Amino acid sequence: MRTFRPYFAVIILMALTSIALELSVDVNITDEAGIRVELPDRIAAWEGNELRYCHNKECLKAFLVNDIEDRNVCPACGGPLSGMSYDEAAVLPGDTVLMKKRYVHPTGRQIFVSIVLSGASRSSIHRPQMCLTGQGQVILKSEVLEVPIEGRKPLDVMVLDLEPQGRAEGMTGLTTYYAYWFVGKGRETPSHVQRMIWMSTDRIFHNVAHRWAYIAVSGAREEDSVAYLDEIREFIGGLYPHIALTENIIN
Ligand SMILES: [Zn+2]
Repeated sequence: MRTFRPYFAVIILMALTSIALELSVDVNITDEAGIRVELPDRIAAWEGNELRYCHNKECLKAFLVNDIEDRNVCPACGGPLSGMSYDEAAVLPGDTVLMKKRYVHPTGRQIFVSIVLSGASRSSIHRPQMCLTGQGQVILKSEVLEVPIEGRKPLDVMVLDLEPQGRAEGMTGLTTYYAYWFVGKGRETPSHVQRMIWMSTDRIFHNVAHRWAYIAVSGAREEDSVAYLDEIREFIGGLYPHIALTENIIN
């Protein structure tokens, strides 16, 4: 019976949220984000390069911003470039903000970072597990990792160990990690359920709906080593001060 409890909690919350949506016609939708949608060009030895996507249906090419002259114009077709892919733009509400960067270390290791900031409809952020399994990834393990941040308590991030579905025995180089957390104004959590609870209680008790953001950091993971956990701790520890707003740092 115990295993069902979290689901009940979610169902009750969803019910409360929908009641709140119907009752509070004047919910104060704020434009305040709990985060800056900015990714630095450099984090320690990691060098960052932003990803831009062409939205011309005949082209749909992707570019690294350092390789092109104009970050808004596709060098192949002259079409408009965006921080999100055409497919992402098709499913996300129009006022969603999305930024992605690829970071490369002198050793050749790569890390991909994305920040999604939800818009007014609040439906931009989904449960990451669903998207990943939809993309053919198998989640082998998930755990909350404490990332030390200077001058405050550690940041909790969710770390998923992934491998592609149907990966043959002995095939190497395909295993990855996916680390993420959510940020609202003055709120931070690695838990999707906790975010849902805060979204509901903020609406019901404070009559406010903040813009939530979702930050994801992913890279390669060697099967016989936990070195990737150090990589996550060091990278997010370096990234955090660039994107955090002060009210999230004080707690
Ligand atoms: Zn193009």
